[in-house]
Amino acid sequence: MPRYICKSCGVQRGRTQEPPETCPICDDPRQFVPVSSHAWMTPDAMLAEHGNVIRQVAPDLMSICTVPQVAIGQRAFLIRTPAGNVLWDCVSLLDDATIALVEALGGLAAVAVSHPHFYAGMARWGRVFDCPVLVHADDQAWIAEDNAHIERWEGETRAVLPGIELHRIGGHFAGSSVLHWAERRELFAGDTVLVTADRAHVAFMWSYPNNVPLPADCVREMAARLNRIEFDTLRSAFDSRGDIVGDARRAVARSAARHIDPPVG
Ligand SMILES: [Zn+2]
Repeated sequence: MPRYICKSCGVQRGRTQEPPETCPICDDPRQFVPVSSHAWMTPDAMLAEHGNVIRQVAPDLMSICTVPQVAIGQRAFLIRTPAGNVLWDCVSLLDDATIALVEALGGLAAVAVSHPHFYAGMARWGRVFDCPVLVHADDQAWIAEDNAHIERWEGETRAVLPGIELHRIGGHFAGSSVLHWAERRELFAGDTVLVTADRAHVAFMWSYPNNVPLPADCVREMAARLNRIEFDTLRSAFDSRGDIVGDARRAVARSAARHIDPPVG
């Protein structure tokens, strides 16, 4: 029995004989069901037509992106530290080439995922690399395939490895989280906040595809949480959005102020 993957959100489900009838993640109003309705693919079908592009973004930092694009088209990051490697966020495709490369680099000490839209194939990544997959407990209802590797973390922060820490920011999802690489002063934001086209601001949205902004009070709280983290670079969930390099913490504060009191006309 295959573990079907939703063609729209890319999240992989547990084994079923037939394709599931619905996808809870796409049925949720933060995402969307395509006009042509739900559609599924098997891992074998995805492997036949896709591969991962792995790029060196900075020293000890690689991005992993599936081509041609699968579903939302997010990128994952492979962060390398002396204490081990962390995969931040996830893609649905895990092929032999990716496994060989990650193993050659020392495997994974942990996978950590920002929020349910990027759960992708996280259960399989945990299984293959025999490591914990950290997701915030506030979002556990969205776990599509559970296994012994999935670890729910609670509260506001969670140490992953020395110098690598998760922070719950909330907003987009109750458990929406970011990853802080302290030594490098880098923040991996997923789309808890999303880099905008000018690469000088971020957006705070409940739904990105449906353009539903978060309320001002919530953004004020998110900005306060983010302001307590020391970072200069903010890395977004998408290659096409890129990163804010330099003074990113101020860019977040400026963006929150604009969101709360937007210009008109
Ligand atoms: Zn879906």
